[in-house]
Amino acid sequence: MTTPKVAKTKSRFSRHLITRLILIAFGLGLALALGWQIQAEQPPTDPALAVSANQATRLNLLAQVETLTTSTDTLTGHISSGDMTTLKADLSQIRNTVYNHQFDVAQLMLADFVTSRAHIKHIAILMPPPPPPPTIVIPTAQAVTTLGPGQIPILIYHKPPADLEAQLQVLKAKGYTTVRMAQVAAHLRNGGIDAGWPAKPVAITFDDGFSQQMSAFALLQKYHMSATFYLIVGHPTPGFCLGLSQDKTAPCADSYLTWDQAKTLVDSGLIEIGDHTMDHLDLSKQTADIQSYQILEAKGELESRLGVTITSFAYPYGSYNATTISILAANGFTNAVTTNQTMSQSLEGIFTLGRVRNTYLLP
Ligand SMILES: [Zn+2]
Repeated sequence: MTTPKVAKTKSRFSRHLITRLILIAFGLGLALALGWQIQAEQPPTDPALAVSANQATRLNLLAQVETLTTSTDTLTGHISSGDMTTLKADLSQIRNTVYNHQFDVAQLMLADFVTSRAHIKHIAILMPPPPPPPTIVIPTAQAVTTLGPGQIPILIYHKPPADLEAQLQVLKAKGYTTVRMAQVAAHLRNGGIDAGWPAKPVAITFDDGFSQQMSAFALLQKYHMSATFYLIVGHPTPGFCLGLSQDKTAPCADSYLTWDQAKTLVDSGLIEIGDHTMDHLDLSKQTADIQSYQILEAKGELESRLGVTITSFAYPYGSYNATTISILAANGFTNAVTTNQTMSQSLEGIFTLGRVRNTYLLP
């Protein structure tokens, strides 16, 4: 009865072996896991060290090339002795070595670049985020620009430009306050000591009285800005195409404001009406009598029909002579504007005031 005993022993041995195998496998697994864990916790190789190792190799390679290329004495010797075969072989070797080393150096430089990039990335992750940029306060144009002494910009317009509203907004943004020409004259005549004169005055003027100027008037009302409109009177003659008395039934190149519209301007309290003559002639070429008629007839018509006192004048074409100024000065006018492009105004030049055209260039 030994067989069962053997079988029993064999069976026990088998079970023992399986247990051992399981234990070994477990141990191996544990060792592997621990090993992996240790491996994972190993600090990465310093990329800077790898770069410097590459650098050393590179320098070594370059030194070898240097050695080869400096052995010129040997080559000169071959040339002197006429040993062309050896010379050729030496040159070939030099060429190959230089080529190969250059290739190696290039490879190393590329490797350095890749390592450095990884290193920079690694440092960038560790670094704290940069602080937010400081808030910069930019001073506004209004705060830094002023008019020079004696400067009063007088803007000249005819038909309103498409960007007139933008121009009015620019004037507001730059801190300008609008003044009418009678106010400019008073300011110059009293030596600039009038109360309420703005720090940054600007006079807006419209010449000729084209009907399109009603849209400019609407914008001036919108922004509550004042202006001076120089109107041509003209004649109530059939087919007459000029000024307030234009024959509206005639085929005319330009359309002018009506008397009713001129009254609307006056009634707004924003607009001063100025004299721009009866027929818009070049006054410098007219006799004193014709000049008087052109200036004074228009003044009388405007005053009686609009119920205002006219004290401001604009020369047609900006053209005048000494007679023109004499007539103005002797007949209740206080000021006159030209088309001379200047902002510098004075009492001496009160009948030859300059006007400027570009709102955007004002200080
Ligand atoms: Zn004109």
